[in-house]
Amino acid sequence: MLPRSHALVSGLRTHCARVVREVLELYAPPLCPACDEPTAVHRALCALCLSGLERTSPTAVQGVLAPYAHDGTLVSLVHRAKFAASELAAQTMGLLLRDCLSEITAQFDVVVPVPLHDQRLRERGYNQSHVIAQMLDAGPVVHALARPKRTLAQARLTREDRADNVRDAFVLQNPRLVRGLRVLLVDDVVTTGATLTAAHTALLAAQPSSVHCVAVARAILRSGL
Ligand SMILES: [Zn+2]
Repeated sequence: MLPRSHALVSGLRTHCARVVREVLELYAPPLCPACDEPTAVHRALCALCLSGLERTSPTAVQGVLAPYAHDGTLVSLVHRAKFAASELAAQTMGLLLRDCLSEITAQFDVVVPVPLHDQRLRERGYNQSHVIAQMLDAGPVVHALARPKRTLAQARLTREDRADNVRDAFVLQNPRLVRGLRVLLVDDVVTTGATLTAAHTALLAAQPSSVHCVAVARAILRSGL
């Protein structure tokens, strides 16, 4: 099968899985988005998964505020949001982040999600960072950036290779959406910060008033990478 056909089929399969899941959610009792055990309301974690959340530093580290460790429950949510077509998991990640940002969300004018490359967006059916951004109540979500460069998955790269991989990955496509404004730049997981740094750098060309970077979770780069 040609690569492009394969991508289309993969994207269609992902879209169908998402539609089926959303229909089931309408009629089924609410399930924990991290483990599928019954919960009280939609998008709520069960007690066990709630206990599996690990908070990190309440302040920004290397310019990025990421209130949860990429461990336990967050690993399950991120995996489901990225690879199992679970927009529900991404929404839950957004709500978790919103709860941690509630005291500062009034400080921003617009929210910019880190974009996906178009092909990856078609395969996944949605951008998990966009879904997270929508849940934050920190201002309108605007698409100031585009990601024309198809990059490798960061997870298997070294710190140095990660920076090279995403360098020049982002371009400013709508500078007027952020010019002079206080911007909240949102991603799902931060590890070395290379992706957010590259997106941040691209945004600065629009001369925003300020740019603050947040991610739901912070991962530790495994030794050897
Ligand atoms: Zn659970």
